[in-house]
Amino acid sequence: MSLSTTEKQDSPQIDFDRFSRMPLCHQPTPIEAMVRLSEQLDGPNLFIKRDDCTGLATGGNKTRKLEFLVGEALNQNADMLVTQGAVQSNHVRQTAAAACRVGLKCHALLERRVPGRNEDYEETGNVFLDKVFGATLEFRPPDLDMNAEGEAATERLRGEGHRPYFIPGGGSNATGALGYAVCAQEIAQQSQSLNMEFQWLVMATGSTGTQAGLVAGFHTLDWNLPVMGVSVRQPRKKQIDAVHDLTNKTLEMLEVPTITASKILVDDGYVGDGYGIPAPSTLEAVSMVALNEGILLDPVYSGKGMAGLIGLVRRGFFNSSDNVLFLHTGGSSALFAYEDTILNDNI
Ligand SMILES: *Cc1c(COP(=O)(O)O)cnc(C)c1O
Repeated sequence: MSLSTTEKQDSPQIDFDRFSRMPLCHQPTPIEAMVRLSEQLDGPNLFIKRDDCTGLATGGNKTRKLEFLVGEALNQNADMLVTQGAVQSNHVRQTAAAACRVGLKCHALLERRVPGRNEDYEETGNVFLDKVFGATLEFRPPDLDMNAEGEAATERLRGEGHRPYFIPGGGSNATGALGYAVCAQEIAQQSQSLNMEFQWLVMATGSTGTQAGLVAGFHTLDWNLPVMGVSVRQPRKKQIDAVHDLTNKTLEMLEVPTITASKILVDDGYVGDGYGIPAPSTLEAVSMVALNEGILLDPVYSGKGMAGLIGLVRRGFFNSSDNVLFLHTGGSSALFAYEDTILNDNI
């Protein structure tokens, strides 16, 4: 994209004031150079956007989405947030903390999605923190329609006299994705103030709200920064369709024309054996970034996203002069539920 000189001096801006929003997030989050990792990989210039530092209960990407979701819940006079996720869900942990922050109750359904974990898996890491924040929890077997389960639980709680507000898995609807349109605007503004042009943005993609919000935000701003989503769960085509669908719903909320699926980029080469199961490349990424940058990734999302970035560098996907930004989406609390895997297999 070429901007005229005058346009370039204006800070890129989307009008978010028309949406209900509850401030929950430290922002802007920093962008830092990963000097040692860039050297180690002998690749392009790698940078990291620290959305693990959003500030709520060990941070992470769900906090930006929750600003709009909690805003809507309060607007509807809810007294309880209801949501769902996998057992070690970072989204449930951030939702439970957000509920405390604004004086709401929180109820969550946890899906036993990951096979073969030990008993501790349902007690430690994010589950422990859910309990610290006083969330009430119910477990579910794998492979149910968890949003349907969550909606049914919401109706049950309404029948019991609560005023529940349901948040879908990962906070990934158009309202939640607005939080990542905010992040897109933030990246565009930081890019200007740092006088630094990024050629690529790489991140982990799961329930799709993060990538959809980013793509919708950059498109609304007419800001040319391609976003490569590294899938943590689904095959490429399925993930592209899901991200595309939510991107267009988000653009409709922003009253901006929709886009074609060709704008959605996904790499599914780093999923390994499935959701929540770290692949050797995930463990390598967690270790490399810890040892070279002093930064904690996680074994479910950001470790796979970073494995994708490392893989793309090794494949020669980038030019050596490129500035490549990795979005750190958080998740380090889940490390405690994977201590055995991480220590035995890797370090
Ligand atoms: C939820 C999550 C993601 C994926 O974001 P989606 O919006 O669900 O695609 C990435 N990283 C971490 C740490 C997460 O918790």
